[in-house]
Amino acid sequence: MDLDTSIKEISRIGISFQRKLQRMGIKTVEDLLWHFPHRYEDFSNIRPISKVKLNETCCVLGKILEIKNSRTWKRKMIITEAIVQDNSSAIKVVWFNQPYLIKTLKEGDVVCLAGKVSFGDKGVFLSSPAYEKIPATNNEQQEFTHTGRIIPVYPETEGLSSRWLRYILKPLLLEFKNKIPEILPQKIIKTENLLPINQAIWQVHFPDSNSEAEKARARFSFEELFLIELSVLKERLRLNKEKAPAIPLNIELIKELVSSLPFKLTDAQRKCAWQILKDLEKPRPMSRLLEGDVGSGKTVVAVIAALNVVKAGFQVAFMAPTEILAKQHFQEVAKLLRPFKVRIALLTGKEDKIISQKLKNEILEISRNKLLDKARKGEIDVLIGTHSLIQDKVKFGNLSFCIIDEQHRFGIEQRARLCRSYGGQAKLIPHLLSMTATPIPRTLALTIYGDLDLSILDEMPKGRKKIITKVIPPEERKGAYDFIRQQVKIGNQIFVICPRIESGIRNQESGIKNRDVLSWAEAKAVKEEYEKLSKKVFPDLKVGMLHGKMASKEKEKVMKNFKAKKIDILVSTSVVEVGIDVPQTTVMMIEGAERFGLAQLYQFRGRVGRSDLQSFCFLFTDSPAKKTRQRLEAIVKAENGFKLAQKDLEIRGPGTLSGVKQWGIPDLAMENLKNLPLVEKTREAARELLDEDADLKKYSFLKERLKKFEKRIHLE
Ligand code: ADP
Ligand code: MG
Repeated sequence: MDLDTSIKEISRIGISFQRKLQRMGIKTVEDLLWHFPHRYEDFSNIRPISKVKLNETCCVLGKILEIKNSRTWKRKMIITEAIVQDNSSAIKVVWFNQPYLIKTLKEGDVVCLAGKVSFGDKGVFLSSPAYEKIPATNNEQQEFTHTGRIIPVYPETEGLSSRWLRYILKPLLLEFKNKIPEILPQKIIKTENLLPINQAIWQVHFPDSNSEAEKARARFSFEELFLIELSVLKERLRLNKEKAPAIPLNIELIKELVSSLPFKLTDAQRKCAWQILKDLEKPRPMSRLLEGDVGSGKTVVAVIAALNVVKAGFQVAFMAPTEILAKQHFQEVAKLLRPFKVRIALLTGKEDKIISQKLKNEILEISRNKLLDKARKGEIDVLIGTHSLIQDKVKFGNLSFCIIDEQHRFGIEQRARLCRSYGGQAKLIPHLLSMTATPIPRTLALTIYGDLDLSILDEMPKGRKKIITKVIPPEERKGAYDFIRQQVKIGNQIFVICPRIESGIRNQESGIKNRDVLSWAEAKAVKEEYEKLSKKVFPDLKVGMLHGKMASKEKEKVMKNFKAKKIDILVSTSVVEVGIDVPQTTVMMIEGAERFGLAQLYQFRGRVGRSDLQSFCFLFTDSPAKKTRQRLEAIVKAENGFKLAQKDLEIRGPGTLSGVKQWGIPDLAMENLKNLPLVEKTREAARELLDEDADLKKYSFLKERLKKFEKRIHLE
């Protein structure tokens, strides 16, 4: 048996347990050994029975004097009662509804019991303790498994009990604890003072003390982040060896564009555009992340770079996460580049057979095939679209610049597919600009999003008013509705966001099918809210709705009507979360605000306050919990998105950053991403190692493990 041996070959694991394990993604011995407890119970303190104290959880070791089942006076429950005695005294023990225990535990058996000392009608007793039989032969050197030590408690999903896992894991660990190859370089183990693998794997399951457990976890935390960093840095090294078309910087052209804009660029926009243009000049593929708060004006920065690329004779691909956003970009880019005769096209979802192309400032609708043909021949300069852009049949003649908006909505794989070489120019890789308004600390961005260069838009366009934000408890709801009505009366518009109705949805983050269920649940929530607002609350106003289950034509119509002020109040799912720009909207009303992450709420709020009109954000919550209020107050006070994201990270962990979950990193690593100093440290260690041995030739175990790790990340 080795680490790759299938769990099917472990005879102690029956077929139904195999299935359960497999459902949890545990397929091999290694997976099993790496299934760590999420907490421990300290039963290490074995007490003489005479010394036990009421209401305390403790452990006793003694002989069973008698044991029997009986029914409670209501005859509803079977209780198992026993008397256990040691040298000091005896105590009554009671288990509820476990009648089968008398088959295992017999009079005369020596047992170790761990549980809470309680008091009832019949006096003091040990309540439903964990138990472990001690074989008569070796009472002295008994290795405890379930009691008498610090015991591991595993996440009990799929009906797998911790007791069962301990029973399976213990012999496996005994067999393997000296056979697991050490993947971490000795040097690192020493300088970081980490437990070697063979100690760590034992101590993480059956620790000798709490501090050993902590040391074991620290080692695995280090290991997982180290693997992530290695993989990210290696990818960057690989990319650095690739070639990209060098795109000369045409200063005159850029000046002309900048002076044609309807506004003055902020200094931050100038700085970021410059960084991008300088990168494009190099014959190496750019890999840059443009981070900027909602409304900081990222689009125009991307457009500046795009124009430079187009006029140098290359194509640009611009990918956005939703159709609505892609369409908006199409219009915006067309508007900004109007004086420059750029051929811009829009390619969207599957139902959409007619494709628009903007040429000589006319919108042409051409067939999908014709559009794809033009893209292939290089007759389209800027192709804007959704995920549709990464389909195999979309080919470019000479793509050399990819822009990905709201990039946290895409997986690594999708980004890689957009930026693949299309074979036009021999083996050249396009430059990549990712944009995001999810402001996260630099180290974390570099880890989660790959080793990108960063440009940060840390300045808002002038003249924006602060958005007045309020948490609205149930008793103030009516007042808020009155206010909304007034806003509509003076010609302003309203967004209403509702959270999805969660009932009956399991396993939210995995699988396309589930995603489908999710958008269905969102649609349901939106429909209900729409009914309520249009019929009961605002029957006199024009209310519209928007959700992911609507056909794209329909969605487009709704957005158009909203922009044209034919709709006063738009009830929507989180689809408006990203990027939507309707400047005359002045109120953002969020239902069930407590169900969203702070960063996401912040994004929603960014949908208003996009003009010189005073805007408002109302966070409706029915949750009376003080903590909820406090969390929401953070939005009210938030100065900028970066600080807020930091806060969200502290409160809820990086798993809540959208996009991170899709990445499928192990739970432990996810938890550890919160620990920025550790992220920093592992990154440094990975960098040093790669400097010394970029191909990991001297570290074959590490290399092998990294390969497995990467496969796992990319598959998910
Ligand atoms: P985001 O960074 O959230 O993607 P957008 O690019 O959508 O922001 O820009 C938000 C709005 O601000 C748009 O209407 C855009 O035209 C406008 N805008 C961008 N830059 C400036 C600027 N320097 N001054 C004034 N308005 C600007
Ligand atoms: Mg945007």
